[in-house]
Order: sequence, then structure tokens, then C-alpha cells
Amino acid sequence: MEINGDIKKMIAALVEVVGERYVLFQPEDLAVYECDAETLDMARPDLVVLPGSTEEVSGVMKIASDHGVAVSPRGAGTGLSGGSTTIEGGISLGLARMNRVIAVDPNERTALVESGATNVSVSQAASAFGLYFAPDPSSQIASTIGGNIAENAGGPHCLKYGMTTGHVLGVRAVLYDGTIVDIGGQTRYSADLDLLGLIVGSEGTLAVVTEAVLKLTVAPNAVETMLAYFPTIEKCGQAVSDIVAAGVIPAAMEMIDKLTLNAVEDYLHLGLNRDAEALLIIELDGAKAGIDIQKQLVESCLSRNQVDDVSWAKNESERQDIWKARKRSFGALGRIAPHGYVLDGVIPRSKLAHAISAIGEIARRYDLLIANVYHAGDGNMHPCLLYHRDREDEVKRVVEAASEVLKLCVDLGGTLSGEHGIGVEKILEMPLVFNEKDLAVQESIKEAFDPMFKLNPSKVLPTPKVCGEAGSRPLIRHKILTDRC
Ligand SMILES: Cc1cc2nc3c(=O)[nH]c(=O)nc-3n(C[C@H](O)[C@H](O)[C@H](O)COP(=O)(O)OP(=O)(O)OC[C@H]3O[C@@H](n4cnc5c(N)ncnc54)[C@H](O)[C@@H]3O)c2cc1C
Repeated sequence: MEINGDIKKMIAALVEVVGERYVLFQPEDLAVYECDAETLDMARPDLVVLPGSTEEVSGVMKIASDHGVAVSPRGAGTGLSGGSTTIEGGISLGLARMNRVIAVDPNERTALVESGATNVSVSQAASAFGLYFAPDPSSQIASTIGGNIAENAGGPHCLKYGMTTGHVLGVRAVLYDGTIVDIGGQTRYSADLDLLGLIVGSEGTLAVVTEAVLKLTVAPNAVETMLAYFPTIEKCGQAVSDIVAAGVIPAAMEMIDKLTLNAVEDYLHLGLNRDAEALLIIELDGAKAGIDIQKQLVESCLSRNQVDDVSWAKNESERQDIWKARKRSFGALGRIAPHGYVLDGVIPRSKLAHAISAIGEIARRYDLLIANVYHAGDGNMHPCLLYHRDREDEVKRVVEAASEVLKLCVDLGGTLSGEHGIGVEKILEMPLVFNEKDLAVQESIKEAFDPMFKLNPSKVLPTPKVCGEAGSRPLIRHKILTDRC
């Protein structure tokens, strides 16, 4: 967007609403907002606007819609599908200033928060009452409630407690034309259509969430966490299936492969067994007596699958070390290659062992290193393709191999995304799961909320524009996967 007379007028109007400090248009400021944590797809916004209240968001949206300018909401930018990347240019609307936990109600077990509040800040505020916010993405120190709602975020403990959608009671949101709407409420029940269900997981394409009423969970009175090492990744995968089949739903069940395990050990020096082919982390929580029975069942499933070693954390510090190994695993992979492309495919849990060896075969065929971290309990896989962004041929192989992994997930009866969303990253694979009619229905929902198609445009639903034909910011993947366009 060229800064001509009209744009100058728009900038002046935006400054009126949010203040001069919070409208950014210098190249060095815009560069910070050109991608999220999915760094293959980059596109610089024309403006960054940082509102401080719902009313300011509304004011900004009115100005943007008057000028027909695209707006892409952004929380902390930790997204892994290019969801906040401004591929049509326009305004990157940063919500991170709106970061207050406004109130915690211990009687109703709810929290009222602004959408830029970090996930962890909600649990911190609730902890004084023995409560916490259950969805726990590994990015929880940084990622915002608005981003969690938009992506329907999960996390290690969502195996037992469910995804974000089960923990949001209501939202205040702003439509593209600036209208402020309240959707849902203070309780689990609502008499209208489940519009809240539509908003959660809509990836910032329907409305900008500015406040949310969240459901809080009572902290468990006992927790037991363990590490188990396996001689093969297939046996580890089978143990996961057996545990669930035995009727145990652990609070979390996470799996890390040898490549990742060694990167974590190089980074954190926790004394992990470097020779194991797979590491399984299991956490059980609830009442003490129930946990003891579950422990026995888990251990028998592990032995049946030739586990090499099992160790239960003896105290909170050992437990924290186990979670450090899991939650810092993607960071640790930075020791192997400067860039990692984290996928998010889902498969039926029983197909885990098969999927793991098929991904190994894809890695060999494309001559790539693929590290594997899984929310194994719910079949959500995070293969991480390691690469150097400045090696053109490697980038091409990464994009093609990633697309094959997603196809594999769909072929196995799974789907494209468990928790990171479609964004721009998986948009070309959408027709693997949805036919034209399905996509048209989804587009009509988008149109009902955003008739001008200007809120987070060219995300989730494939259009010719995303193939770089008319989009203002063509992306690498569209050039590589041209046969899909
Ligand atoms: C190291 C690492 C670990 C991760 N682990 C997990 C994990 O365990 N589970 C998981 O689910 N994800 C995980 N993620 C992905 C990411 O953290 C989540 O998708 C998170 O919910 C994004 O939040 P954010 O505030 O960073 O949102 P952003 O990246 O800024 O935006 C994400 C999407 O939300 C939209 N959005 C943001 N704020 C709003 C708003 N207020 N209103 C409307 N739309 C909005 C954006 O337009 C975009 O489409 C991880 C990421 C990293 C880097």
C-alpha cells in the first residue's frame, strides 16, 4: 500500500483512535510482524495498529472498512500456520496490549479476561483459588487467549480436559464493520444458535475477539508423572493405544523420538537416555486412590510392549524437568537446523505406529531430517521438518514432503490439523478433506460475518487468490505447489 493522500488520511484517523505511538508504518517496525512462528510464509503488513480497548478495536475496524482495507488480527504471533500473516497486506491488528485478567470469580469458577492476556497469566491469577485454565499449549507463556480461541488451541493436558472450545463460555467481539457483539454468556447454557462454537476455531476470519469469559478447572489433588523409554517407536505407539484401550485416560500422554530426545538432552542436560528410540511421558491426575489403580494398568501396558525403563517423578522438581523436556523440545531442535516446519496432522490413534514408519519413509525419499513430537494420546502428530531457509532446493523438498505427510494423515482416516489451524499453511490441502459444496457452505458462513471478505482474508478457505494469481503477497508454497492452483 503506497502512502498516498488517502492513506495519510486513514493513518491520521487511526492515530485519533489509538494514539500516535500505536500506529506503526516504518519498515523496521513492520518487519517484526511479517510472519508468525511458521516462518516459511512471510508477508509484510502495510500498517500495524495496536488498540488498547474494545472501543478502540471498533474504531479501527470502522476506519478500515470505510477504506476497504484488509485487517488480520494478531495475538502473540506464536501461531504455526501463518494465521496472522498479512498475505493480502493491509493492517496487522495487534491485540497484545489488551492483556488484563479483569476478574476471577471463584464461586462461578470463571475468569473474565482481555483477549491479549497470555494463557499462563489466567492460570496464575486463578491459582490463588486452587483453580486454573486447563488448555495448556506448549506456547502458553507467550500465546494469548485470543489466539487460543481463534485456533481452538490444545496442549498436552487436553487429552483429558478437552480443547479450548470446552473452556470458553462467552466472548465480546468486533465485526469487520466495527459492530461490537456479545456471543455466549456467563454460563454453560445459551438459548441461541451455537455461534460461540463457530467463533472458537475460526482463525480470526469471522470477528476480532476482545474479551472472553473462561471456564476454570479445579486443580487436581494428586499428580503422578513418568518417563518411559522404548527400543522402537512402533512399540511406544502401540503402548499408547493399549493404555487408552485399557480404559485409562491420562491427563497427558506425549511422545518424543530419538532425534528430538538427543536435541533436548544436548540443550537441557537432564540425564535422558540417549539410546532410546522413543520417549513417552505420561501424567495421571485426580484422586490418589484412583491414580494408584491407573498406575498399575499403565505399567502393565508398557511391559507388554517391551518398555526398557520406567521412572516416576519423585518430587515436583523432577516432574518439572520432565515437562521441560517436552515443552522445550521444538526450541531444542534449533540446535540441529535454523528452521523447523512443524506439522499438525491428526490420525486415528491405532494408526500411530504405521504413520510413524510412513513419515520415516517420506523423510528418506526427500532426503530430509524430520523430528517427531506427538500428542500421542489423541493421535495429533507434530513432525518437524528441519531445514535452512536460504537453501532453495531444501525449501522445495520441505514444502512437498510436508504436503505428502498431510495427505498421509487424511488417507489414514485423520485430518489436516489438530490444533494449529489451517491458516495459509494448509490451505492448498483443504480439498483433500472437503469437496466444493463443503467449502461453499463454509464460505457462506464467512460471508454472513464478513460480507466484504476483508477480515483475515485468504485464510482457511482456498480461493484463486491464494495461488498467487491476484494476492498482493504471493507465497513460496504457492510457487512450489503450482499444480494445486
Ligand atoms: C513453541 C511452540 C509450541 C506450541 N505449542 C502448541 C500447543 O501445544 N498447542 C497448540 O494448540 N498450539 C501450539 N502452538 C501454536 C500457537 O502457540 C497457538 O496456535 C496459539 O493459540 C496462538 O496464539 P497467539 O496469541 O500467538 O496467536 P497468533 O499467532 O497471533 O494468531 C493465531 C491466529 O489467531 C488469530 N487471532 C489472534 N488473536 C485474535 C483475536 N483476539 N481475535 C480473533 N482472532 C485472533 C490470528 O488472526 C491467527 O489466525 C505452539 C507454538 C509454538 C511456537
